[in-house]
Amino acid sequence: MSKLVVQKYGGTSVGSVERIQEVAKRVIRYRERGDSVVVVLSAMSGETNKLVSLINEINPNGSAREKDVILSTGEQITIGLLSLALEAKGCAARSYTGTQARVMTDNAFSKARISEIDGSKIKEDIAAGKVVVVAGFQGVDCDGNITTLGRGGSDTTAVALAVALEADECQIYTDVDGVYTTDPRMVPEARHIPKLALEEMLEMASQGSKVLQIRAVEFAHKYNMPIRVLSSFDEGDEGKSTLVTREEDIMEEVLVRGIAFNKDEAQLTITGVPDQPGVAYKIVGPISDANIEVDMIVQSIGSDGATDFTFTVHRNDYEQAKNILSETAKKVGAENCSGNDKIAKVSIVGGGMRSHAGVASDMFAALAKENINIHMISTSEIKVSVVVDEKYLELAVRSLHEAFGLDQA
Ligand code: ADP
Ligand code: ASP
Ligand code: MG
Repeated sequence: MSKLVVQKYGGTSVGSVERIQEVAKRVIRYRERGDSVVVVLSAMSGETNKLVSLINEINPNGSAREKDVILSTGEQITIGLLSLALEAKGCAARSYTGTQARVMTDNAFSKARISEIDGSKIKEDIAAGKVVVVAGFQGVDCDGNITTLGRGGSDTTAVALAVALEADECQIYTDVDGVYTTDPRMVPEARHIPKLALEEMLEMASQGSKVLQIRAVEFAHKYNMPIRVLSSFDEGDEGKSTLVTREEDIMEEVLVRGIAFNKDEAQLTITGVPDQPGVAYKIVGPISDANIEVDMIVQSIGSDGATDFTFTVHRNDYEQAKNILSETAKKVGAENCSGNDKIAKVSIVGGGMRSHAGVASDMFAALAKENINIHMISTSEIKVSVVVDEKYLELAVRSLHEAFGLDQA
């Protein structure tokens, strides 16, 4: 039976003319089997970083709207190039920018959310036998402004399009042949995971595993769209991959599925805060008002009418958050405020934790054995996260990977 397949190719998968030709060949192989293909592309690898540098050279504090106008251009190049490559091979293709594909978003420039995709024009092209090639990472708000979806956002374009077009499969082609127990570039012993629950991938992604953008997994979870992660460097089409799907479809539940880590956070502490109702709001409120997301929060038990408060933010927001916090410290009469941007968060994730106690203590034991000090802890049903000094990150990930037997078959 013929299928509708959405295939997303990341930066390295379209990083050169040769790689683009390989993508064209794969698309044509699928077409020859009778499938319809919609392709979503990233910019060539390094391209978006280059655009970020150009922006920072000219006006780093400039208007967010203009920045998105610039950041979205990398994808426009690759969609045009792939369409030309397909055409040269005798395959009818048509490219769409986010605006042309009617990927509607809110107006939160640089981190816009997709609200709706009107797939009617794309469907017409598919019906006419064309391959549709859509620019990832970008959309348009209701006033016609170009928006971008946050770094790694092409994954989200792909899943949202797969949902809108009711595709049979959403394939994410990248430079690894699936999801591993941890980043295989940090831990070579990391093992390939053939099938993974969307809930687990959601935690892995939100704790820093950048193999899929978190919003892509949220979308897939909400609309029950399975995602297949595969390598664009594999020659065949049925090579190794990871299917990320509903929990019910996974037979084996494991205690710890994987280790995620995140180096992009920074920690802020305010001490000697008068311990009164509303104090948490007084501290976090102004940070949120500045559109800065707060991740982990720890408030210590008050003593002598005062309490301490520690939280983490994205490292890009560190300086701004620190300034806001020192203003707050003056206002509420706190003793001191300080910060540390040389921290990292390490998390263990696994659906099996729901029914097993003691996982957290095993984690702390493994870190203690390596003499790694823990600054903060947070837990949920299926994950335990700790904040440690950045210099211990790799040691922490490796020792946890081993302690939970993830390197064993
Ligand atoms: P793309 O440009 O194709 O979107 P990304 O760089 O965004 O690719 O994502 C792929 C990368 O994700 C891999 O090269 C790998 O280093 C990293 N990664 C992090 N955690 C994992 C994990 N658990 N399994 C596989 N890859 C991971
Ligand atoms: N090109 C964008 C980025 O580098 C989007 C993506 O690759 O998904 O973040
Ligand atoms: Mg990516």
